[in-house]
Amino acid sequence: MIPRALALIAAIALSTGAAHAAYPERPITMIVPFAAGGPTDVVARIAAENMSRTLGQQIVIENVTGAGGTTGTTRAAQSKPDGYTIMMGHMGTHGAAPAVYPNLKYSPTKDFVPVGLASGTPILIVARKTFAAKDLKEFVSHVKGNSDKLNEAHAGVGSVSHTTCTLLNSILGAKPTRVPYQGTGPALNDLVAGQVDYMCDQIVNLTPQIQAGTIKAYAIATAERSPALPDLPTTKEAGLPEFQVSAWNAIFAPKGTPPEAVQKLNAALVKALDDKTARKRLLDLGADIPDVPGRSPEALAKLVDSEIARWNKVIKAK
Ligand code: ASP
Repeated sequence: MIPRALALIAAIALSTGAAHAAYPERPITMIVPFAAGGPTDVVARIAAENMSRTLGQQIVIENVTGAGGTTGTTRAAQSKPDGYTIMMGHMGTHGAAPAVYPNLKYSPTKDFVPVGLASGTPILIVARKTFAAKDLKEFVSHVKGNSDKLNEAHAGVGSVSHTTCTLLNSILGAKPTRVPYQGTGPALNDLVAGQVDYMCDQIVNLTPQIQAGTIKAYAIATAERSPALPDLPTTKEAGLPEFQVSAWNAIFAPKGTPPEAVQKLNAALVKALDDKTARKRLLDLGADIPDVPGRSPEALAKLVDSEIARWNKVIKAK
């Protein structure tokens, strides 16, 4: 009798202790919905490494690929909302996907809570090194005249590379063969190997290869040049001002995640983006680091709303 009563008291004490234990008390999984080595993965790993130190628990990256990022995003949406599963989403998974997939199994707004924006990532037009065009004007005329013979690589329907090159192809009236990959990491490997002809991708994936001269870069689709690639002209400077598009990566948690967990995750992200080493790594790759107001969950919620509206118009117009 007495030992039983003691066991009961001990059990109550333990469970009360657990309820009050400070979050996080074990490792956190961050789902990356694309292949390792691509832009989403790169931004996730830089952020997660620093955030892990602040949180005192490891953030473990899990690459869950498929369906232009929507497989991993669905998994994240359906995960237990306890702060131990989060994800690195982007303009495709949380902006374009609802317009691209009428039967999408998640809502970027209703099934997630925003944690914070990790990086802005300008879009570049790139091609294999041996592509027969020395600048954007030649690229445009070559693609216009030969698109039926060309292969364009992308990371699955609805991904950033897919939606932004959909825009480019429609401006050019081009109909290339569109080759899907599990992420632009593996797509870039094939571009370097000369197995595909061109793609549109987030800058953070491309900067090292452009600097090494293993691929050709024609233009950056933003208003300003990137300090990471100062010789690369903007699409406006290079003669294709209609192609203006840029992307972003951001952290989300499943709806119902405790506000204290979201707040701690956001604080760790904010701190990571001010860390000297993390900043340098991101800036060297060409990422735009959001200012402090731009890192809040509220700012991300607004961005997601405006991106869903923007891509809905773009995709319906196609
Ligand atoms: N760039 C993404 C990645 O592989 C995929 C995409 O959306 O294009 O991380």
